[in-house]
Formats: sequence, C-alpha cells, structure tokens
Amino acid sequence: MRDPDADADAGSCMCKYVKHLRICYVCQNESTVLISERLCPPAKRSGVFGSCDDGIASGRNRTQYQCWQCKDNVMRISQAARELTRA
Ligand SMILES: [Zn+2]
Ligand SMILES: [Zn+2]
Repeated sequence: MRDPDADADAGSCMCKYVKHLRICYVCQNESTVLISERLCPPAKRSGVFGSCDDGIASGRNRTQYQCWQCKDNVMRISQAARELTRA
C-alpha cells in the first residue's frame, strides 16, 4: 500500500507525529481528524515509535473541506432560493 504522504516528508529521518487536520474553506474552522505516528527507518526496524536517538518531530497535514455547518447553510440558502422562485 502506498502512503499518500510519503512524498511530503521524504528526506526526514526522524520519528514524527503527524496531526491530520481538516480546515473548512468557508469558515476556517479547524478540526483534528487523527494523529498518526510516522516511524523513521531505525525505529521501524525495532518496531517502537521514538526508539531511535533522533528525537521526535511533529508535523501537520492539512486538508480543506466544507464543515457540516457550512454545508447546512448552503443547503438552507439554496432551498430558500428554490422556494422563492416557486412562489
Ligand atoms: Zn526515529
Ligand atoms: Zn465551515
């Protein structure tokens, strides 16, 4: 299985906590989806996160989306518009 984020931290040899965030492009509301552990090659060999001597870094992985509140607003607006044209 190919890691979709593999390119983002190519060249990094530290263990990494990666915080996956979603940011609404309408209201900029941020929410954490999950935090994943990225093991560096030495740590991978022992199978324990942070077991190398390189320390632990942290990174962020942002994706843009539309939160349910904004989706709800859009739906309500388009429904109101539909009702207006009908009337
Ligand atoms: Zn490491
Ligand atoms: Zn939003």
